[in-house]
Amino acid sequence: MTNSASNAPATPVLVLIETTGSGAPPTTAAGLLGAAAQIGTPVAVAVTSGGQNTQLVSELGALGAAQVYVAETDSAARELGTPQVAALADAIRQSGAGVVLVPATNGSKHLAGRLAIIAGGAVAADAVGVRYDAEAQEVIAVHSVFGGDFETESTVEGGPMIVTLRPGAVEDRAEPVDNPQVLAAEVSGGTAPGATIVQATDTTVDTERPALRGAKAVVAGGRGLGSKENFALVEQLADALGAAVGASRAAVDAGFVPQSYQVGQTGVSVAPQLYFALGISGAIQHRAGMQTSKTIVAINKDEDASIFEIADFGVVGDLFTVVPALIQELDSRRN
Ligand code: FAD
Repeated sequence: MTNSASNAPATPVLVLIETTGSGAPPTTAAGLLGAAAQIGTPVAVAVTSGGQNTQLVSELGALGAAQVYVAETDSAARELGTPQVAALADAIRQSGAGVVLVPATNGSKHLAGRLAIIAGGAVAADAVGVRYDAEAQEVIAVHSVFGGDFETESTVEGGPMIVTLRPGAVEDRAEPVDNPQVLAAEVSGGTAPGATIVQATDTTVDTERPALRGAKAVVAGGRGLGSKENFALVEQLADALGAAVGASRAAVDAGFVPQSYQVGQTGVSVAPQLYFALGISGAIQHRAGMQTSKTIVAINKDEDASIFEIADFGVVGDLFTVVPALIQELDSRRN
């Protein structure tokens, strides 16, 4: 039997679901299940503290999971990754899956190495896509490297291939499944003890803007904004587009915005549908975090700025003239 869309065999591809405090699947789940559907049959693996599973399973079915392994444990929110590693290892044993997709997020990417050791496999880290090579009959992970200037491919010989996949990198969605089959995964035994969370404090973010990681649109500002006050222009354009706000490291270092806004090699990696770079020169360390964006729009007064080398649309001009005009135009179209 094959997956009709990609000619891949209909073998199970496990997808780690990062459950949120409410037990709901996070935004990363849709892209990961979509990627799994390109190379086989999507099978979700979720660790929960129990009680919310019916809703979770039906939401995962709507996102394309044909089966859902649920591991219930009181320690779901207390142990840092250990139950997830154990549940995935058990799901591999039960299903015989040869590929596991893990979100390349701070919360989950560290699990890939632990799982590879337990399952006797290997990690393909920080992929931006996966595909099935019908001739070689193997799954290939696609990576964006050297600041996004090159694409490389990798695969694993032997044991299971554990792929960490960048959130937002895969847009394709899997076909919804009514009533996915529910299976139990074990979390006890087989894993070395890991870190335990002794205290967690939720930080309240006082904004209605989307989070930078996983946002469909991002408006980022650089040193060209000149001051913290002027950075409000970036936020205004972001709000007009319903976008998240990002920044270059120079803008962060200058104190315009907090470090959590930084996009790039030492900040957040994003792959939105639309990325606006305002007053950003396009240094390789910045590009490393945004070059896989689908459409890049750059506004810079220097026509030689290297951001224009990767921009789909570029405006050579003063952002303090161009951006207010753009916001006005967006507002007038909405009204
Ligand atoms: P600049 O390079 O100073 O560019 C400002 C741009 O604004 C210029 O192109 C200028 O023409 C334009 N401009 C000025 N005024 C206007 C105007 N009125 N209208 C329109 N355009 C205007 N950087 C990151 O962003 N993310 C990272 O994660 C990161 N990690 C790094 C890690 C390492 C190890 C190192 C060494 C560096 C890292 N950097 C990172 C820094 C990076 O090398 C650049 O210094 C930084 O990205 C530059 O930010 P910028 O483009 O805002 O500033």
